[in-house]
Amino acid sequence: MRFVRFGPTGAERPGVLDHEGRIRDLSGDFRDLSGADLARLGAVDPHKLPLVEGSQRLGVPVAAVGKYICIGMNYTDHARENGMFPPREPIFFLKATSALCGPNDPVILPRGSVKADFEAELGVVIGREAKYVTEDAALSHVAGYVAVNDLSDREFQIERAGQWTKGKSADTFGPVGPWLVTPDEAGDPQDMVLRLHLNGVAMQDGHTANMIFPVKRLISYVSQFMSLQPGDIIATGSPAGVGMGRRPPVWLKPGDEMELEVGRLGTQRQTVQRYQGFD
Ligand code: ZN
Repeated sequence: MRFVRFGPTGAERPGVLDHEGRIRDLSGDFRDLSGADLARLGAVDPHKLPLVEGSQRLGVPVAAVGKYICIGMNYTDHARENGMFPPREPIFFLKATSALCGPNDPVILPRGSVKADFEAELGVVIGREAKYVTEDAALSHVAGYVAVNDLSDREFQIERAGQWTKGKSADTFGPVGPWLVTPDEAGDPQDMVLRLHLNGVAMQDGHTANMIFPVKRLISYVSQFMSLQPGDIIATGSPAGVGMGRRPPVWLKPGDEMELEVGRLGTQRQTVQRYQGFD
């Protein structure tokens, strides 16, 4: 099944798509798509729920995300384009949850940003607490999968000292969605295409089969260092084709349009804008 959160920013309501792809209102049964409720998504019958009329903005399809964990350098082709050897064990870092936004919301370049970049990725949403889980048990802790764009400013990330978090955490640098897709409908997490078009030009055309560390290994690995809680998201790394890997590099600029798709997880579209706040 495909779950959504719809409505204005900050006032989204939970919903589920019916067989015709229409939104059904889940708010009678679920306070929101968060916490322990993520473990009971399988019991929902969309056709018993009221239809939502009209076109709706979609928000992040998970509420109350406690942690957004990003895996770095997890594709053989992406490591190669950065001139780096594949890591011996997973690299991970945190993106601020204030960066999260809906799948089609505008991406706002932060003040001073000159090297903004995109990354199409498979996102994993945790449904049950995972602590010291084995690889064999890891996927049973997954509530579903989401498409994500893990945006960065490469200057903030790499040239400004410190950790990657600095370049990964600006507001709107975390589009998620459109849907939270349950594992039965999403299919094998190692059998998904990832594509990103910038202004209609294909930039990324990858496949999750090329991950260095598969999803079950990532969940097991991270859970050795911190517990994973319901609603946490793991962005599992980007394939090749990002702006930084090109010669010359390609950086996002106002007016750019991104279109991103991951497996059966739906399509995102974002327009890039300049930050309009006061100096
Ligand atoms: Zn990434």
